[in-house]
Amino acid sequence: MSIIGHFINGEDIQLDEPKQSVFNPATGDSDKSVLLATQSTVEEAIASAEAAFPEWRNTPPIKRARIMFRFKELLEQHADEICHLIGEEHGKISHDAAGELQRGIENVEFACAAPHLLKGEHSRNVGPGIDSWSEFQPLGVVAGITPFNFPAMVPMWMFPLAIVCGNTFVLKPSERDPSSTMFIAKLLHQAGLPPGVLNVVNGDKVAVDTLLTDQRVKAVSFVGSTPIAEYIYTTASANGKRCQALGGAKNHAIIMPDADMDNAVNQLLGAAFGSSGERCMALSVAVAVGDKAGDELVAKMKTAMEGLKVGAFSDASNDFGPVITCQHRDKVNDLITSAEQQGATVVVDGRNPQVPGHPDGYFVGATLIDGITPQMDSYKVEIFGPVLQVVRVKTMQEAMQLIDDHEYGNGTCIFTRDGEAARYFSDHIQVGMVGINVPLPVPVAYHSFGGWKRSLFGDLHAYGPDGIRFYTKRKTITQRWPSSGVREGVSFSFPS
Ligand code: NAD
Repeated sequence: MSIIGHFINGEDIQLDEPKQSVFNPATGDSDKSVLLATQSTVEEAIASAEAAFPEWRNTPPIKRARIMFRFKELLEQHADEICHLIGEEHGKISHDAAGELQRGIENVEFACAAPHLLKGEHSRNVGPGIDSWSEFQPLGVVAGITPFNFPAMVPMWMFPLAIVCGNTFVLKPSERDPSSTMFIAKLLHQAGLPPGVLNVVNGDKVAVDTLLTDQRVKAVSFVGSTPIAEYIYTTASANGKRCQALGGAKNHAIIMPDADMDNAVNQLLGAAFGSSGERCMALSVAVAVGDKAGDELVAKMKTAMEGLKVGAFSDASNDFGPVITCQHRDKVNDLITSAEQQGATVVVDGRNPQVPGHPDGYFVGATLIDGITPQMDSYKVEIFGPVLQVVRVKTMQEAMQLIDDHEYGNGTCIFTRDGEAARYFSDHIQVGMVGINVPLPVPVAYHSFGGWKRSLFGDLHAYGPDGIRFYTKRKTITQRWPSSGVREGVSFSFPS
């Protein structure tokens, strides 16, 4: 039984603390456990980050960026090991893990541009002989709290950018799959990061609450489910911290009558069932406009789904893996059953699939449910499993109203050949990330990621330009060097 500890001040830390088992969801076995940090361990990590801050703050941005360049190379060199750790604890198939890692690396690439991104703004002669400029200063100790579903990518939405901005960081990864995150943090030290600039504490609510209330922590980035995001945002804000808390989702795709249906079906397959639907950008609801589109969509999906394969991460021919825990598998199955009991039709039933050689894995097969209505429990909540629900409506306006009425507003997509309809949709829909014939409109690293409504608490989105703003505070300096010739007398009004 190996024990996953903490990484504080550049050192592996093993302590006598409570532990939690880490499972391989494809087998249901556990040969690892993770320490759950006590308050004093988290305080030690914060102290280490605080001690590293003054020197790191004054390290030239180009030197900080050079460490990120080396980090990127190390991530690429060790990609197979990282993907294996993700697969073993999260369950996602190796090609999917590689995609996750690549999107994480893209955030490191963006962070490499720190010297340019931190240049600030300068205005000469805002008044006679007066210059003014704004600079972006680091905040100090920043904390990140991340979910299980992207153990490599989501932490890299946060710490590379926070660190190149001159902050020091305490990361609290998901306790369900912490190994790849720990491995990546150590690679950054191998790349030359000074001890204390990035610390990783494993743990649960105890660790999180310490980060939220300790006055030395100046800002908190969170990604996870909406109830916890709301708790993080209100608690961090009440404790005087800057906070961005990204929450859950229920992403709808509108299938217009003029859509290229074969293309829409292909796109929906990957977006609904990839990563077992455990993505905050998963398309989990297809809204068919008109019965003809609905009938065609369901018939083609049903046929296409016959070829899908659920199985262990180690077999790259599988399309997707298990869900994260046996409790979560049961929850997904119960939601499928509730839809059936409330009047929907389970067209393809993924409950209890047989996966040869893996009788105890937490598998749910791809599931298609037709005849879903907004009143059904399975429609209201985020299922976070390989389940696509079909809602049928008569008009595009009705489809848009459905999306706007849902509590979440993370991502959405429209499949159509009509440019005018697509433009109207993207202009008016109350959702933060919109795809037009693009099922997973995840912004690239040099834009920023975030939903609307109860999918994000806070103002600034994650990573990209908003990330730079989030991890810095603006200071504006106005300067004049009076010379004997231009000295002015007393003035009691603004100069005009
Ligand atoms: P989660 O909310 O259960 O956990 C996220 C983090 O919060 C973990 O580090 C966990 O230890 C911590 N946490 C859990 N309960 C807590 C509590 N009571 N008090 C304090 N901290 C607590 O989320 P998860 O199950 O790990 O991840 C899946 C969720 O994350 C889904 O809802 C998914 O949509 C969401 N997600 C959102 C985005 C996004 O960008 N909006 C991205 C990825 C995942």
